[in-house]
Order: sequence, then structure tokens, then C-alpha cells
Amino acid sequence: MIVWSLPMRTRFRGITVREGVLIRGSADSRGDESGGYGWGEWSPFLEYDAAVAEPWLRCAEEAAAGDWPAPVRTRVPVNVTVPAVGPEQAHAIVRAGGCRTAKVKVAEPGQTTADDQARLEAVRDALGPGGRVRIDVNGLWDLDTAVASIPVLDRAAGGLEYVEQPCASVEDLAAVRRRVDVPIAADESIRRAADPYRVRDLEAADVAVLKVQPLGGVRACLRIAEDIGLPVVVSSALETSVGIAAGVALAAALPELPYACGLATVQLLAADVVTESLLPVDGELPVRTPQVDESLGHADPDRVAHWEARLAEVRALRQDRPS
Ligand SMILES: [Mg+2]
Repeated sequence: MIVWSLPMRTRFRGITVREGVLIRGSADSRGDESGGYGWGEWSPFLEYDAAVAEPWLRCAEEAAAGDWPAPVRTRVPVNVTVPAVGPEQAHAIVRAGGCRTAKVKVAEPGQTTADDQARLEAVRDALGPGGRVRIDVNGLWDLDTAVASIPVLDRAAGGLEYVEQPCASVEDLAAVRRRVDVPIAADESIRRAADPYRVRDLEAADVAVLKVQPLGGVRACLRIAEDIGLPVVVSSALETSVGIAAGVALAAALPELPYACGLATVQLLAADVVTESLLPVDGELPVRTPQVDESLGHADPDRVAHWEARLAEVRALRQDRPS
């Protein structure tokens, strides 16, 4: 395995360095044109314990084994992400992104609804009338603020395709959904395998945001998508191109893909672990398996020891509690 540690271009999710492991499958596990073996990424965030990190490892093992379902499309549309910046910068980010869908962060602490409106007007101007705009609240509104703000921001954006995680709790998502006309997407409400079923049972969302690592891999997510019967947006957990390829494999295998995915995140890292990164071209990611750069150096010995210990912990947990 290869332990990697990469600086982030900008602070995201409170971190400035992203770390993880590449796990290698056996020599015959991937019958691709390279004749090489498969690689999987295991990159649970540092604060996650072994029980939370276990499904992340299943995703890496599935990738390393080359055990992905057949794709039904060759390209996956992705969104550009607009942070809580001013309107000029928002406009420039959308123009530079080349995507037809923009995900705009709103409800930033210290900012006002007027700031969000100005950002959304700029994004609509940059995309033109045919583009799609979604907002991501990251659970920061209470119920009443969500109900009051969504119609205002819907107008500012010239129509929203959906609102991602307007409130923190799944009960509040359900309540918002009953009181506004804009569709609701659940993101932070879906962290573990049981969560999508709770979102479905409470009728809390119109769209499910699924991430392959926390939910146990591509096939596990396909099963969840089929069970819950909601349209899926595949999103990343800030992976390298190896981890993003797993998200792309899910997006490529879903029978329906009505929304752009949140998989254009490799550029948030200042470096990568492959010879050619999975970056969007004209708003789409190609469905392909990137080649790991095997000349990569290991992270420093302390970090290698850290990841070896974490891996041993997850494997010990599996022996105690066979699934
Ligand atoms: Mg989100």
C-alpha cells in the first residue's frame, strides 16, 4: 500500500492536509488494457474511529479487486462549486469552471441573505438561462429561516434545481420539504448505510447525495439507490483521482442520472497520486480508471505508522464482529 499526504489548495471542512492510503489488488484483479492491477483509495477522515472507517475500507477493497458494475454511460456531468465569495469572484469561478450546473454555498456565518442573493444573481448571469443552480446550506439554517429564505434565494437564482441540507436534522428536512416548493436534497443526513432509508421513510428529501466511501462502495450504493427510489447525486469525500474514480463508477452505473454530480473536487488538492488527474472537460468527467503514479514517495514514517495502525484496527474489528 501507499500512504499519501497532500496539501489542500484552500482550507476545506476545517482541514489543510488530506491523507489516506492506496491499497493494491492482486495482479490479475483488473483485466483492463494496461494489464495492471487495481488500486483503491481508503481515506476516512482522521477523527473517524474504526467502526466508521470500516465501510470506507470496503469501498477501497472493491476498487482494488476491480469489482465495479458495468457503466451505462461514458461521461458524468459535474457541478462547479462556488464558495461563499463575493459576486465578482462567483461569476469568475462559474465561467472558469466550464460546467452547466453550479453548486453555491449560502448561509455562511457572518454573511446576510443579501450576500447570498448577490452571489446567486452573479452565478445565474455567468451560467445563462439554460444553466442549473443548486444551493448548499450545510445544515446551517433552522426550520423557520429555511422556510423564509428558500423562496427569496429561488428568485435571486432565477430558479433553483434543489436546496442541499437546509437544516441539520432529518426531521427538519422533512418539515422544510412540506413547506417549500423547491426540491430538497439530503447530504449530511446520509453518513452511514442506514441513513438513506431513514431519509426515505420520513419523506425528508427529493434527492439523495451518496458518497461511495462512507456507504461501503459502488455496489452498496447502487443497492441503496435502487431501494430508496430517489434520484441520486454522487458526491466526493475530497478524494484523490483514485477515490474519485469510484464515485465516477457509481455515477456511470446508475440507471438514471438526472443531476450533475459533485465529483469535480480533485482540484481542491494541490497534488494528486495519478499520472493524469480526473478533471472535468466541458463540465463532464470521463469514465476511466486513472493510472497510479507508482514513483510516488511515501508520506513521512509517522504518518505511515498511523495508517498501518488504523488499518490493523479496522481488520481487528472485523474479526470481532464478522459482517
Ligand atoms: Mg453538501
